Amino acid sequence: MAGSGTAQLRDAEDIVLRIENLVVEYPIGRGRVVHAVSDVSFDVREGETLGIVGESGCGKSTTARAVIQLPPPNEGSVSYRGRELTTLKAEEMRRLRPALQIIFQDPVSSLNPRRKIRSIVSEPLRVWGDKQRTAGRRSPDNVDRLLESVGLDPDATGERRPSELSGGQCQRVSIARALMLDPDVIVCDEPVSALDVSVQAQILNLLEDMKERYGLTLLFISHDLSVVRNISDRVLVMYLGKVCEMGNGDAVFEKPAHPYTRALLAAIPDPAPCVDVSEADLKGELPSPIDPPAGCRFHTRCPQAQERCRVEEPAVRPIGDDHYIACHFPILKE
Ligand code: ADP
Ligand code: MG
Repeated sequence: MAGSGTAQLRDAEDIVLRIENLVVEYPIGRGRVVHAVSDVSFDVREGETLGIVGESGCGKSTTARAVIQLPPPNEGSVSYRGRELTTLKAEEMRRLRPALQIIFQDPVSSLNPRRKIRSIVSEPLRVWGDKQRTAGRRSPDNVDRLLESVGLDPDATGERRPSELSGGQCQRVSIARALMLDPDVIVCDEPVSALDVSVQAQILNLLEDMKERYGLTLLFISHDLSVVRNISDRVLVMYLGKVCEMGNGDAVFEKPAHPYTRALLAAIPDPAPCVDVSEADLKGELPSPIDPPAGCRFHTRCPQAQERCRVEEPAVRPIGDDHYIACHFPILKE
């Protein structure tokens, strides 16, 4: 199937997340179902940042949430450091929850408007913290140190409420809150999409610093390829709930082989020379995930589509060193 298969899964000792054949469907009444994520597989190694990119509605957030079991997927496997999460009992999952944190797109609305910043940052300890393990961290000094480490002045911001801070400052608070429980993985779901371009770079730098300092593994989601290109070691390009192309950043960004990846890359303000701006023009509308096209899901908009694409779904297959694609007719250039 297009974007299906597991060829892209690696055989390595330091795999932190291994997602196999993930399926998420939303029933919407009268027997209809949104096929939000259909048979997606990927893995993330220790300390790696995997960027997930694709147009709005392609299933990025659904994938991210299914990874951290909020909610669990309909089908497929999510293995975190060798433990299968989809079959864990609620209590076992609760114990793992601090290790798997998420940061959302809208920094202001994802923070409790009635609470003060110091209280927001220490809240995860009250909700999730193991009292003994986190005893040292509850101290006001520690909360202030964390605020400082994300670039906020505790004296100036600690007793304020989210509405009194800028969007960028609120996103710093979200990052501090996620770090409070000493996580292993942070899922960043469009963390800079609501911010001004000038602030975006600061928050991306902060995430990279925190990743180094705390030894984090990141899943970084964005509809904006230029953002993903800057922060990711590896990239997963999604279209209509499927994997199109995946691999290390150099391969995907410098030798994009899927017509959809090429279209996305041609549409950014300063496209790389490996694509032609004319490739950005896709035919027709984005099909509905309620009734996705047969064959390759991209065929209705693909400039390369042939008869085979209408009937046969291409499996994900390797086309280079850590470079995978689901396309019958990839564009391979030297
Ligand atoms: P993205 O994050 O890439 O924009 P989403 O994962 O949010 O995409 O959504 C994937 C698809 O699933 C979209 O068509 C969206 O409308 C649909 N969807 C998301 N959440 C729900 C829901 N709770 N009920 C029904 N459909 C949903
Ligand atoms: Mg989303």
